[in-house]
This record gives sequence, C-alpha cells and structure tokens, in this order.
Amino acid sequence: MKNFIIKNQHCLITVTLIALFMIMSLYTIDTYARAGGGGGSSGGSGGDGGGLIGILIYIIFMIPFPWNFVVIGLIILLGWWGNKKNKQQTVLNQLPMANMMDKQKVITNYMQQNPTFDVETFKAKVKQAFIQIQEAWMLKDMGKVRKYISDGMYQRLNIQFKMMNILDQKNIIENLLVKNIIIDKIEYDGRFDIIHAAIHASIVDKFISSKYPQLNSGGTEEFVEYWSFIKKRGIKEANLFDSQNCPKCGAELPKNAGDVSQCSYCKTITNLGDYDWILSEMTQADDYIGVHPKASKESALAIKVNELVKSDEDFSIQNIEDKASNGYLQIITANTLKDSTIMRRFVSDELYERLSHFNEDNIVYNRIYLNDVTLIGASQSDNKNILSIAIKSSYQRVMLKDGKATLLDSMVLSKTETVLMSRDVNHGLSKGSLYAHSCPSCGGPVKDTIDTKCQYCEAELNSTKNEWIITDILGVSEYRNYYQENKDDFVASIGIDKIESLYDVRDYAFNNVLVVMAANGKFELQELDMAQKLAKKWGYKVDRIQPMFDMAKNGSLIIRMPEDQKKRQKIFKLMEKAAAIDGMVSAEEKQLLENVKQQYIQAA
Ligand SMILES: [Zn+2]
Ligand SMILES: [Zn+2]
Repeated sequence: MKNFIIKNQHCLITVTLIALFMIMSLYTIDTYARAGGGGGSSGGSGGDGGGLIGILIYIIFMIPFPWNFVVIGLIILLGWWGNKKNKQQTVLNQLPMANMMDKQKVITNYMQQNPTFDVETFKAKVKQAFIQIQEAWMLKDMGKVRKYISDGMYQRLNIQFKMMNILDQKNIIENLLVKNIIIDKIEYDGRFDIIHAAIHASIVDKFISSKYPQLNSGGTEEFVEYWSFIKKRGIKEANLFDSQNCPKCGAELPKNAGDVSQCSYCKTITNLGDYDWILSEMTQADDYIGVHPKASKESALAIKVNELVKSDEDFSIQNIEDKASNGYLQIITANTLKDSTIMRRFVSDELYERLSHFNEDNIVYNRIYLNDVTLIGASQSDNKNILSIAIKSSYQRVMLKDGKATLLDSMVLSKTETVLMSRDVNHGLSKGSLYAHSCPSCGGPVKDTIDTKCQYCEAELNSTKNEWIITDILGVSEYRNYYQENKDDFVASIGIDKIESLYDVRDYAFNNVLVVMAANGKFELQELDMAQKLAKKWGYKVDRIQPMFDMAKNGSLIIRMPEDQKKRQKIFKLMEKAAAIDGMVSAEEKQLLENVKQQYIQAA
C-alpha cells in the first residue's frame, strides 16, 4: 500500500511537471510579421487558447482531487507572473529621446524655412498612416493607402501579399496602440525634404496559414520603428491621409489603384511628393541605428549625385533608391512565380538573358523584406550615368512539394546585393515610370509583357534614354571586383567595404549575441544584465540600443554576418560564449548555433 502511494506520488509529480512545462511553453513569445517587415525567425509552434483548454481538461480528469486544482492554481499564478515580467521588460522599449534639444533645434530651423509646417499636423498624419497601413496589411488591400505611399513601398507590401497568398497565409492584427511619435531627423535631398519619424507602438499580431500551419507565428509585441516621409520642398500641403479625393482636381481617386497612384480624371500622380508627405521607407530599430552618416542623404556622394542629375527636377536619392527596391522586388517576384514578363520592361537585354533561367523547384518566401537600401556609388561611361545601390534584404525560403512546405532556411537570413542602374546623361523628359507600369516616353500604361516596345508610341521600353534601367545585380565580392575594374569611371563612391563597416564586427557580434540570448523565447534577467554590461564594455550608448533589447525579446532580431570569413569566426566565438553565460547552453541555443555554423562558417 505504502509502495503504491509513493509510486502514485511520483506519477503525480511527473504529470504535474509535464503539465507545467506545457503551460510554460504557451507563454513564450513567438515572432511576428506585421506590415513594418519585422519578424525574425519563424515562430513555429504558436500556442493558442484551444491548446490551453485541452491541457486544463487533461489536468482536471487525470490528476486526482485536490491536486488537479492545486496545479491549475499554480498555472494561473505562473501566467500572471509571466505577464507581469513581460510588462516590466517592455519598459526597455523606448523612443530615441537622447539629444532632444538638438532634435528640437532641427525642427525649429525647419519651421523657420517652412512657416506652414506644423509638427502636430505632421504627427497626426504619421499616426493615421500607421493605423491605416496595418489595416491594409491585414486585409491585403492597399486601396486607402496607395495614394500616399511610394511605388517602392507599394511593392514591398505587394510582394508579401503575393507570397502570403501562395502560402495561404493571413496576418491578423489586434489591439493596435500608437503610444508616441517623435520626429527623429530631417534630411534635405535634391528638391525634396525627408522626415524620419520614430513610432512607439504595441500590437497583437498573428500570422496564420491553414494549409501550412507549421509556418504559423505571432504574439504580442511592443516596438519602435522608423517611418520616413518625403515631400517636394516648399509645396503647399494638401491632406492625402484624410481624403480619398484627388489633391489636384478633387475627383474621387480609384479604390483599386495598383502599381500607379494616378487620378483617372486629371491624370496627376499623387505619390511623387507634389501634394503631401509620402511614406517612402519603414526601418526597424536595429537597422536604423546601423545607418551611417556617410550614407545619409547629405553625404558628399549624395550631394555629388544630386548635382550630376540636377537637370532632372524629380530626381532625389530617395527616389532612385525607391526605384531600385521596386525593381529588385519585382525581379524576386518574377523569379518566384517563374514569370519573366514581370521584369522584362526595366532590365537590360543582357541581364534579362541571365535572370530568365528559373529554378525548377517551387520556392516561395515565408519572409522577404528590405532592411536597408543605400546609394553607394556613381560613375559615368558611354554617356551614361550609372548608379550603384546596395540593397540589404532579409528572407526565409520555403520549398513547396506534394502539398507540403519545407523550410529551406531554419531562420531568417540576410544578404546584401548591389543593383546597377543606368540612364543617358542627356536623357529626355520622363513622362512615366517603367517600375510603375507607365511608358517613360509617352506616359501610356505598360502591361507585364516580354514585348519591349510601347504599344502606344512604339518606343523601346528598356532604353536608357528616358528611364533608369537595371543593368546588373552583384554580390558583395562581385561588386568589389566591378569597382576595381571601373574605378576610373567612378565620380563618387562610399565603397561596399564602408557599407559593411557601417556594421562592424562589434555590431554584428552584439546583434547576434542578443539573438542567441533570446533563442529560448525569453530574455532572462541574468542575460539582460550581461547584455547591458557588454553594451557598456563595447562602448554603446545604452539609450541608443535599448530598442534592440526589445527586438531580441520579441524574437525579431535576425542573425547578421559580414562577408569576411575571419570576422565571421570571431563573431561566432563570441556567440558561443554568450550562449554559455548562464551556465548552460539550452537546446534552442544549440540549434541556433548549429544553424549559424552551417550557413555562415566555412569548414576549415
Ligand atoms: Zn485629379
Ligand atoms: Zn509609349
């Protein structure tokens, strides 16, 4: 009899532990994929209410009274404690309040030059854009927001909708709360002004696929994100955010606008910055703090390039970067859908030849977003201006076969490629944008087609006469070679190595250490303490990197590695060290390190 009780107690303890373990796993935070394009490693097993109820029923019937209720009591207590801990940690999430005096000076200065500019009106527009875009994202319908987002921005969202549709995914957003908005920086770019706004918000975000549930992820998160708005200098601000009417003639704007945001009556294009602030970029906190002043819109290179193309009133660095992102994403879409008509019109014949051999496998992106798009060089040859634009992207691929989805990348990876764009030095007046499906020679609409002649004016579409044409896409070392070979043609450059050094070994290591620490879905106090110490030791201003802590906690930081193998090994060693800091390397940490090793470290 005694023996039986002891045995039973063992059993009870085991059952209790299993139940507690299962409940605990429900409280871990999964990753997310909201409109801003955040969303690190795929979440996998997202817990839900159904699972919880199942476990509760199991406990009530399988564990004898009164122990079943003791266990349930413990679970409730743990849940409450877990939530409380989450709330405490989100205190880390802060807006960049450092140098507020300097920021205020910049704004005051701007207001002196632009007396009609009103900070509160601007912030209200940012808030409206933020809320409307999250809604558009959830509904996969950009009707209401198309008029004030750039073509590149449209493409960033559009490509994700296409991938989500293939994977039968939807993103459900609840409890969206904008906590605060501040103006972080104002830049001057050609005839345009750019305002970078920091947005502090929280959201409940679930990424769901009924067909491939293993890709599901989501959870609650609090974050800071940077949204950049561009406008032509000195124009009178209309309000594109509050109205669905054409800012020029007042007619109703089309609700189903796609690649072009144009009034059907007066034909004006609404999103070129002639009427209001246009959303042109969304940047995650970790990418934003990595942006080097050398790569700003006011760098020596940027000023030189604006000088080069000053005959073109609509040119700005932001605009060319937007075109590059737009084309780059359409090329990825063409490749995924194995449809060359999507990219034919804006790539050179030579590049087209190379790009149109598609992979046999059915590969789709579970995540694809652009982290950073930066002009890094300008050259001239054969009476053409050639601009080099570095694009850093994050992606996670999935292979579809026999109705099953297999993750090709166990985590979100990042890579940098450089897009070369050419246009004649003596170019004609551009009447449209190929990237937005309109003919640069006559402004007529252009469909997805492999025909390179405009059906209205017969002009050659992919000609460098009136439009920037993509002539090449190069990896980091390819670009380095290209630069060496064509050095004499370069008018100005910041060099791909500088782009890499925007993010030096220390930055990579710190970023990756945070990813390792958060690998088990939590950010233990001990680990937080270690991260703060490391930040201090490596000379970071803690207030500048605080958003990174929160991203780590949300699981939305991604592994980043430089090209250089030696640097990679150094970084990997630091990551191993960080994993062992709390006395043991967890299974998740082990898995992550193993993946990183496979993807990034060459066998000696
Ligand atoms: Zn109109
Ligand atoms: Zn034409």
